[in-house]
Amino acid sequence: MAFPAPLQRLIQALEKFPGVGARSAERMALYILRSPVEDAADLAVALRDARMETLRCEVCGNITLRTPCSICEDENRDETLVCVVEGPREVERMESAGVFDGRYHVLMEGFAPREGAEPEPDALRSLRGRVEKEGVREIVLATAPDREGEGAALLVSEALEGLDVTLTRLARGVPVGTRLEYLHGEILADAFKGRREISSSRSTS
Ligand SMILES: [Zn+2]
Repeated sequence: MAFPAPLQRLIQALEKFPGVGARSAERMALYILRSPVEDAADLAVALRDARMETLRCEVCGNITLRTPCSICEDENRDETLVCVVEGPREVERMESAGVFDGRYHVLMEGFAPREGAEPEPDALRSLRGRVEKEGVREIVLATAPDREGEGAALLVSEALEGLDVTLTRLARGVPVGTRLEYLHGEILADAFKGRREISSSRSTS
């Protein structure tokens, strides 16, 4: 006995979410059917608004309401210091912790399953363009201290080869394998203060 078509469509839509299997999709769909009509309507509107009203900043790649985003346009932030993160969640995490006053560069959209995820080629190209045009003097690599994060950091350093910029990596005073998005503000601040240089083509003066 099949579910009615509208319910079946909802289940199929939910099943497309990362980490959601057929059983979970069914549970979520049935939960929505049991909830007040207003809640379901609010969910539908929130879904549509989040998808239709946000876009990616053409400078840093973060999720934003307008482009360039407010961080990229903020004159009070240090434009010569750019923190490279894997996704929008890390930007959100760092901004809530208030430990960084430079700008960001987002490598991925952040919703793909992490396994096998690689920085978008466009993101690497635009980062190189920023260093060339905006006078960036330091790139802080804040990708996760795991295999994927280290791989991403390597791709970034390759993409920036030959440019006059210092590359630093966040300090490792944090539990191995901990992703940025899970760190407490204080630990994050320490990781920033202790960041170390991994390569530089700058001449010291
Ligand atoms: Zn931006």
